[in-house]
This record gives sequence, C-alpha cells and structure tokens, in this order.
Amino acid sequence: MPELPEVETVRRDLEARVLGRTIVGCCVSPDAPRLVQLVPVAEFCRELSGRRIAGLRRRGKYLIVDLDDGRAWVIHRRMSGNVLYRPRGAPPDDYTRAVFTLDDAHELRWTDLRKFGTMWLVEDATMVMESLGPEPLDAAFTPDVLRQRAGGRSAPIKSVLLDQTVLAGMGNLYTDEALHDAGIHPLRRANTLKRADYARLHDGIVRALRTGIAARGSSLGTTLRDHINVDGAPGENQHAVQAYGREGQPCYRCGGVMRRLKVGGRSSVFCPTCQRPPRRTHPAPGRRTTPTRAPAARRRAATAVARRT
Ligand SMILES: [Zn+2]
Repeated sequence: MPELPEVETVRRDLEARVLGRTIVGCCVSPDAPRLVQLVPVAEFCRELSGRRIAGLRRRGKYLIVDLDDGRAWVIHRRMSGNVLYRPRGAPPDDYTRAVFTLDDAHELRWTDLRKFGTMWLVEDATMVMESLGPEPLDAAFTPDVLRQRAGGRSAPIKSVLLDQTVLAGMGNLYTDEALHDAGIHPLRRANTLKRADYARLHDGIVRALRTGIAARGSSLGTTLRDHINVDGAPGENQHAVQAYGREGQPCYRCGGVMRRLKVGGRSSVFCPTCQRPPRRTHPAPGRRTTPTRAPAARRRAATAVARRT
C-alpha cells in the first residue's frame, strides 16, 4: 500500500518525465465508477484535456498535479493505485482503469487492482484533503513538533502515527519500521512516551522514510497488485525492512524472534526485546486488571470512607 516514500518516488519520476507536457486525451473505464470524484467523468475528461502539466507536488500520500490554468489534479492511490508512464501503443497493463494521453507520444496509465483509488480536479488541492498533519521530511518537523502533536493522545503510539491529521504520509509499513528503529512498543500509549522517546521516534520516522525513498519505495510483489514505479519496475525497500512483515524471523538488532499483534485493527510487527511492552496493557490471564492504587491514593480513599461513616 503506497505511503509517503512510494508517492514521493512517483512524484519525482513524473516530474522528470511529464513536466511541461500537455494532456491531449483522457479515457476512464466504466468499471472504475468511484475513481473520479465530485464531477461526472465526461466533465472531468473534458476539463483535463488540453491542460499543460505545470508542476508536481506531494502532500502526505496525495499526489498533486498542478495544471497551467491554476487548477489541481489530485490523485490518491489508496490500496493499489499506480501511475505508469508508457509509450503509446505499449502492451496493455493489467488493471488499467484510466489512460491520459500526452503530447510526447506517451500516456499515463492508471492501474488499480482494488479500485479504491480516487482523483479530483479542483481549484485548490486542499479542498479535497483532510486537515493533514506536518510533513515528516520538512525541516520544520522536529522532535518537539512530534511530541506536541502526539503526546496528548492516550491511544497506542502506532495508531497515533497512522492518523494523518497528526502526521502526514505514514502507513503500516513505515510506522513499524520507525517504532522498531526507536525501540518503542506499538502499544505504548502516546501520552506515556518521554521527551527522549519522541526524539528517537522522530529520528526513526525520518530514517525509515528516507530509506524508503532511496530504495524507490517498498513493493511486496513485482506485479501491479502492489506499489510499482512509473516505469513498471518495483521498488527495493522490501529488502531493507527491519520489522514490517518479518514475524517469526530474527530481529536484526538482537537476534530474538519478531512478533506480530493487532493495534487498532492493523497488524504490527515488533521485537519484544528491543521494543519492551508497556506495563499493565496486557495483564496475564487470572491477574487482576484494575491498576493497583498508589499508597497515597489508597490512604486518601480510606480517609474519605472513614469521614463518610
Ligand atoms: Zn530485537
């Protein structure tokens, strides 16, 4: 599933190939009824045709194609959306749902096995995005910014990092990588992490994302079922992952066995030695689940009872 590094890799590749090109044709397959949002497909294609590509940006997991009339063509790849840059007449690609013809004898092909991907043509890209958190690779993203945005939450840190309004661009793979890098258990509550934890987590996030971009993204397969780059080649980051998908395999840091658990419905792989579990989150069967009161609180409660009686 494309996350920040996969979208950024495609953005950079497209910038090198299609910047300044004009879209001369648009065809959306009727079997992708949810692809084009807000306007009818015919209107979307009519408005997009003839427009020159003036810029390529990314915000979180959104790819933004700036057009010469000031409007933005916004693309969200969701589960399995890919953008391929192919010579016109090249052999067809599986799961092609839309084709955008360019004036350089090439076309952009939108492939999407799961058909969850969406695109918009809007005056302002922010109109269609949720209010996104900071960009983790911007200079303004510091350990303090991360702590301010996440530190008040009582949810598990894994879930907080996946919340796009807290931090833009993180998904399941890069959160597992960042938490393992930082030595933080995915179930630790965000508001129990110390300043030093957030400093390590910040560095882990940045390192995981930069590694992913340098390797041109993570592809769990070599087919269009998963992330693939604009030339149709997979990324290489899947060979570099430390945690994601490595359940039952040895931790590269300590040699212990990597484990998996569900956090908020999402699978998380972690090392139980390098990422120590939080206290009292998973009481052993038969143990009491209510936290033991601190002596002072117990004394206060006893006094209160004594006053009432
Ligand atoms: Zn370990």
